[in-house]
Amino acid sequence: MGKTGICRALGMLCVLALVLSAAGCETLNVPAKDRSVSDRTLYAMDTEMTLRLYGDTDGACMEELAALLEALDGRLSATSEGSSLSALNRTGETSDGELLSIVTQAKAIHDRTGGALDLSLYPASLAWGFTTGSYHVPAPEDLEALRPSVGMDKLTVGADSLELAQGMMLDLGAVGKGWAADRCREAMEARGLSGILSLGGSIQTVGAKPDGSDWVIGVQDPDDAGAYLLTLTLKGTKAVVTSGDYQRYFEEGGVRYCHILDPDTLSPVHSSLRSVTVVADSGFLADGLATALFVLGKESGIALYRQSSDFEAIWIEEGGVVTVTPGLKDLVSGCEFEAVP
Ligand code: AMP
Ligand code: MG
Repeated sequence: MGKTGICRALGMLCVLALVLSAAGCETLNVPAKDRSVSDRTLYAMDTEMTLRLYGDTDGACMEELAALLEALDGRLSATSEGSSLSALNRTGETSDGELLSIVTQAKAIHDRTGGALDLSLYPASLAWGFTTGSYHVPAPEDLEALRPSVGMDKLTVGADSLELAQGMMLDLGAVGKGWAADRCREAMEARGLSGILSLGGSIQTVGAKPDGSDWVIGVQDPDDAGAYLLTLTLKGTKAVVTSGDYQRYFEEGGVRYCHILDPDTLSPVHSSLRSVTVVADSGFLADGLATALFVLGKESGIALYRQSSDFEAIWIEEGGVVTVTPGLKDLVSGCEFEAVP
């Protein structure tokens, strides 16, 4: 396993530990049926996922979530040949309602972030080797040659169909886990169950813990895969999604190249920002915005926050400099931080 692989594996262990510690403190003063806890770890969407449910006494909800995540992986993966997404990338068109819905919602985030979220960067991700793991720095002319086939404004989105421009290919890596978190949340709500899910960097809390205590979520220290820099204390149903330069990267010539690409340069984002965490009601929005805010950088991200009312955020910069939006300043602990005025 290379340095990158080891890094990812440690990150996954860390997420597991965080979720289990986050969900593991219920008291004995609640009815027995509410106290029953079930945990499952599975691998889907190219990441390890941990699911914790309360009150799923017959295990039916856990089975439903596992099947749901496996099916979503099968439909939305850019790399598996049989997926709806691969078919779209091969044929250039689709009438698949789920893909239409994902692309339409992602286009809305693309538009409000000045194009920072762009699902059509897949050819550039391939050129950098992020999809295959054969990492390398592409020649500038090879990246330039991709320009005509990159840009969500080149998509034709109709009421029942979606068409790609010549050479375009989409990748849902920036929003897929948030989409999955929303679908899992709906399934749990339909059964009246609470719990906490960690789908890679996407955490979803659903409902209340049986003992009434808060959900406690750790946000990883970008410099230490085995530790978290801060904790976030939340009540009820929330999505908490982190995008960071440590989640997948390679190093060449002493430079770190991370998996999040800047649509302007078709190259990995390079800034003092190490991670952005977004808290929102929707997993999809939190996932899409975390990626976009990482591209935008802190100042532009704060400007977007000031025009918005549907998310809160935490920026972690080099040297552990932490900035949080006003809605989170009483919920963050474990480190010093500045609050956005
Ligand atoms: P996330 O971990 O949610 O920030 O998503 C990162 C993944 O989304 C990458 O591994 C790529 O597959 C893809 N991606 C990279 N850069 C972008 C971008 N600017 N917009 C949309 N998707 C991206
Ligand atoms: Mg994302």
